[in-house]
Amino acid sequence: MNAKEIRDLFPILHQEVNGHPLVYLDSAASSQKPVQVLDAVRDYYMQDNANVHRGVHTLGARATDDYEGAREKVARFLNAESPEQIIFTRGTTTAINLVAASYARSVCGDGDEIVITPLEHHSNLIPWQQAAKATGATLKYIPLQPDGTITLEDVENTITDRTKMVAVTYVSNVMAVVNPVKQIAEIAHRHGAKILVDGAQSTPHQKVDVQDLNCDFYAFSGHKMCGPTGIGALYGKKELLEKMEPVEFGGEMIDHIGLYESTWKEIPYRFEGGTPIIAGAVGLGAAIDFLSQIGMDEIERHEKEIVGYAMDRLSQVDGLTIYGPQKNRSGLVTFNLGDVHPHDVATVLDSQGVAVRAGHHCCQPLMRWLNVTATARASFYLYNTEEDVDRLVAALLQTKEYFGHAIG
Ligand SMILES: *Cc1c(COP(=O)(O)O)cnc(C)c1O
Repeated sequence: MNAKEIRDLFPILHQEVNGHPLVYLDSAASSQKPVQVLDAVRDYYMQDNANVHRGVHTLGARATDDYEGAREKVARFLNAESPEQIIFTRGTTTAINLVAASYARSVCGDGDEIVITPLEHHSNLIPWQQAAKATGATLKYIPLQPDGTITLEDVENTITDRTKMVAVTYVSNVMAVVNPVKQIAEIAHRHGAKILVDGAQSTPHQKVDVQDLNCDFYAFSGHKMCGPTGIGALYGKKELLEKMEPVEFGGEMIDHIGLYESTWKEIPYRFEGGTPIIAGAVGLGAAIDFLSQIGMDEIERHEKEIVGYAMDRLSQVDGLTIYGPQKNRSGLVTFNLGDVHPHDVATVLDSQGVAVRAGHHCCQPLMRWLNVTATARASFYLYNTEEDVDRLVAALLQTKEYFGHAIG
């Protein structure tokens, strides 16, 4: 299937916005969903819907099979050792919060260190700030090079024997930087620290192998990879998950319940208190089937091609500043057009039917490091074509005409 054929499977992309065919370039914020995913969620509600792990009736058994089947798909997709190491969460944010609130607080004390980077999304920053505050640990940052990359030398210099936890994004949602997480994991482990990888921007776009990365925790969101909102997962090493205390308590997660004391179910159930996101998991499973059928290597290859074409065309637009490295980029381009506020850029682009993101992208410390208040961002996925890039460039040239005075 080429990108045009893939695009045909996404009903939402076939509409006009402000009188122009929609060009959707905001998949890094949330991706669109193919009919396969929409149908799977609908079929689940039409045929199997019931609560899981409870009733003895047929629908309950089917719903449980659907839900646990989705867990197996996630485990295979990430090459996890076993499905019990996959905890369904609301998304990346909830997954990171679970590790920060449970694991990190149990191992960090006064004088210990939690190491992150200035690239992190607020979701992989604030939970660690809070964990550091609660435990007396120090939050340390691996410094950035001028192009937003990090060097292994700086990783070596930042992580010490006092470091208990390292949390890094695999792929930056702003700088298009791909971090050497396997090497960072190796350095962290040499110092006895554990590493969490924020996989929100890697899982949708490339093959991920948690065993090869040798990461201790890995978090991602379904909605950025063709799945529904409200579902994502945390992968963890078994021996760590088994030692972790739950942070949410209620039905479905307890084993023996007394009036004053209770015990927890085995993993992963002890972390999934309450009725889980069953239809979301089913939709995520369908998204994984869809992406796997196309092939993650093929998706990565296509995005490299599109982003290469976009970098070529955009670098010819006078007055456009592009952030991040020249080489080894992920499938997005963050930019500013002269002194025009990115919100104004995005508004003019939207009037042309071109949807891009504008703002701080949940990375305020990174914006300060770039010395800007905000940027615009075009992000690509498997359904984007070179024609979409041409439409973006044409709309940017129109924006320049509007705001000619502000562009040097
Ligand atoms: C989107 C994103 C998150 C947060 O994901 P949610 O789905 O909002 O929980 C975290 N990290 C990165 C790098 C992201 O792009």
